[in-house]
Amino acid sequence: MNSGEPEHHPDSFLDGLEALSRQGLRRRLRRINSAQGGRLSLDGRDVCCFSSNNYLGLANHPHVTAAVRDAVERWGWGAAASRLITGHMGPHEQLERRLAAFKRTEAALVCSTGYQANLAAIRGIAGAGDVVIIDKLNHASIVDACRGSGAVLRVFPHRDYDKLARLLDRSGSFRRRVIVTDSLFSMDGDLADLPRLVELKRRYDALLCIDEAHATGVLGENGRGLAEAAGVEGEIDVVVGTLSKALGGIGGFIAARAEIIEWLINTAGAFIYTTALPPAACAAAMAALDIVEREPQRRRDLLASAARLRRELAEICSSNRHATSDRRPSIGDSASQIVPLIVGDAAEAVRLADALLDDGLLVLPIRPPTVPRGTARLRISLSCEHTPADVDRLLAAIDRHLR
Ligand SMILES: *Cc1c(COP(=O)(O)O)cnc(C)c1O
Repeated sequence: MNSGEPEHHPDSFLDGLEALSRQGLRRRLRRINSAQGGRLSLDGRDVCCFSSNNYLGLANHPHVTAAVRDAVERWGWGAAASRLITGHMGPHEQLERRLAAFKRTEAALVCSTGYQANLAAIRGIAGAGDVVIIDKLNHASIVDACRGSGAVLRVFPHRDYDKLARLLDRSGSFRRRVIVTDSLFSMDGDLADLPRLVELKRRYDALLCIDEAHATGVLGENGRGLAEAAGVEGEIDVVVGTLSKALGGIGGFIAARAEIIEWLINTAGAFIYTTALPPAACAAAMAALDIVEREPQRRRDLLASAARLRRELAEICSSNRHATSDRRPSIGDSASQIVPLIVGDAAEAVRLADALLDDGLLVLPIRPPTVPRGTARLRISLSCEHTPADVDRLLAAIDRHLR
């Protein structure tokens, strides 16, 4: 499972760091010296960025930044308290109404981050006496939320819904059964089978909670997410999302029936015991939603360019002259704007990323523990700001450097 914490802490932190270096697993911070966008300044160089979650180019969009400036003028900067004390301001309430309408639910609740939204949602609905059943490749925030919930945790292999059905079949003695899954998986770019999950949650009287962090703003005719694209809005008990990916800002949210939201407001520690988002962050999210609603061409361009990238990258992988049958790079089952180039070995992923960076292409390697051992990869994420020529450059460079 992909939570970031080590299983054993070393006696000496220095020894621990050296061990990470030896395994090709040591990470470091990189400093960006420009606003976010398809092109960035990194360590004084201009690079084309294929590693952000700024899928719709909204992190630095003038409509969004203007909304932030106006909100700071009107509301100031800080919220000064948690929501239940005096931090609940006009923009929080407005945004929550807007998100509920966007996600077609009765109510919504904004949290400080998507990470905290998962903590609040999962720990709010599942506790002692309950079972939470999750996909093995769910985001680390879901794993962390489950581990601290008091509920029994069961894990099914990635998208193996027959196994999920067997786990549900043996879960009759629990008070509540909760199924949790990413809708668009963050490191693989593949999709959960939501109609199948809805059928299972009905058959076994379970609650279904989906994390639409990467799908919100991107998938569905109106950008409402995979639930919209799959035609199952209204069948999902709890939708978690973030304001920080396609919407380009900061904050997370939970959309659900009014009684569930009301319950979370009263009981979810990750919502209650932390300061409210700055009101300007809420204004930014509303401005981003304006653009999602008004400019469908952004997500259409993004998905068309992603489809081409997947097609041509799969071609490069299958004709790779260095590959052997047991070691062939692949894009897995990606069906979205997130396209992994899975090379297996962590050191190889780092080598490839370094070679691309020399060509001015920023694509970060993703290694264990974020992904399972033996599946290290480059995680390519596209933005509607990338031009066809940017994608051509990336494909040509990968073709040149792949071993
Ligand atoms: C990024 C992410 C989150 C956390 O969202 P933040 O707003 O960045 O805290 C939650 N779930 C998934 C699937 C994510 O990819």
